[in-house]
Amino acid sequence: MHTQVGIIGGGPSGLCLARLLSLAGIESVILERHDRAHVEARIRAGILEQGMIELMRRARVGDRMDREGLLHDGIVLTFDGRVERVDLAGLTGGKQVMVYGQTELTRDLYDAVLSDANITVVFEARDVQPEGFLEGRPALEFGKDGQQHRLVCDWIAGCDGYHGASRAAVPRDRITEFERVYPFGWLGLLAETPPVHDELIYSNHERGFALCSMRSHTRSRYYVQVGLDEKLEDWPDDRFWDEIRRRLPERFAAKMVTGPAIEKSIAPLRSFVAEPLRFGKLFLVGDAGHIVPPTGAKGLNLAASDMYYLSTALIAFYQQGRSDLLDRYSETALRRIWAAVRFSWWFTSISHRFGGDAIERRIQLAEFDYLMGSTAGRTTIAENYVGLAFDASFR
Ligand SMILES: Cc1cc2nc3c(=O)[nH]c(=O)nc-3n(C[C@H](O)[C@H](O)[C@H](O)COP(=O)(O)OP(=O)(O)OC[C@H]3O[C@@H](n4cnc5c(N)ncnc54)[C@H](O)[C@@H]3O)c2cc1C
Repeated sequence: MHTQVGIIGGGPSGLCLARLLSLAGIESVILERHDRAHVEARIRAGILEQGMIELMRRARVGDRMDREGLLHDGIVLTFDGRVERVDLAGLTGGKQVMVYGQTELTRDLYDAVLSDANITVVFEARDVQPEGFLEGRPALEFGKDGQQHRLVCDWIAGCDGYHGASRAAVPRDRITEFERVYPFGWLGLLAETPPVHDELIYSNHERGFALCSMRSHTRSRYYVQVGLDEKLEDWPDDRFWDEIRRRLPERFAAKMVTGPAIEKSIAPLRSFVAEPLRFGKLFLVGDAGHIVPPTGAKGLNLAASDMYYLSTALIAFYQQGRSDLLDRYSETALRRIWAAVRFSWWFTSISHRFGGDAIERRIQLAEFDYLMGSTAGRTTIAENYVGLAFDASFR
């Protein structure tokens, strides 16, 4: 078996990359460990920046997103009951973010990819092993239905998330990993209830952080900060609803509509970056190369710039015989990644309880006061939240 680009992982990064390449006539094979239903059901990101929105349109999978996605002009920040709105659009020359769930986006991508003649998807691919990428002879070994297969390719795109096989295949002396694990997690609940507000609410409360997000006008996604030792079974729905209401200003708490959880999970928070993102003929893309705490809604949106840079570089290679963009991929992608890692860390640090002494909270309050009283402070939040631009010189 041979293909031009062997892609490990059929999550948003692998699917969208394959589609962008296909539209330029480049063939790929996607090896995905699970089946389609499993990948589509994962409840994850919900907020798209302009860059990801544009990429979906460019990949010709944006029609439903444009019809059903909810555009937001602002976010609400609260601190112990004080309520402030950050006018994202007003402070950034009209930029907005869009509410559109990763489940929906993944479904749209699979619909397109599975009917695309340039893309083959192998579901339930077992023990995928990238080989020969440092020696210029890249191939993917994998098992399927009890048979062992070898896919020879020109390039390997590792789009297999944080726990995937691609980063793990890189010799330890070729890679540097930067990691910070936060001393808390997020307990998330998805419910078929109307959102408490028409914009997202980020709340810093003395009991801990809370976030009121949404997936549509009828589906809410809520989170509360919890300790790392908390167990899901100790959080029946009623306890969750009581807790999140306590962490919100009265005007929101009073009108919160509760209902049974469709999904409930606890996610740890970490900042993680691997450097570099290229190893010979293997590239890391999306969560395979970096993770951010979800506070700034950046994870999927960072994967977007990786997909954009790598697809641009591979298209330049196949259509113009250029390898200069492939050589610049890692450095260019990492610049935007570190900017988002910084923002996600900072936004987490001003909105969560870290269990520190009394001075921690006073300093957070002072920072909140400063930011909200300053156009520069509000603009800093808005510019980063709507997403920093892709590097326009990368072409
Ligand atoms: C609980 C949670 C909440 C999140 N909330 C947000 C949010 O609000 N906003 C935001 O922007 N981001 C959020 N994220 C992050 C966002 O979901 C990820 O950044 C995004 O999914 C990255 O896409 P990806 O395709 O790079 O990786 P993934 O979505 O992880 O996809 C990787 C794919 O590779 C497959 N795979 C893994 N290992 C192998 C293997 N060995 N062989 C073959 N296939 C393999 C997996 O099955 C998976 O389908 C959240 C993440 C989590 C976990």
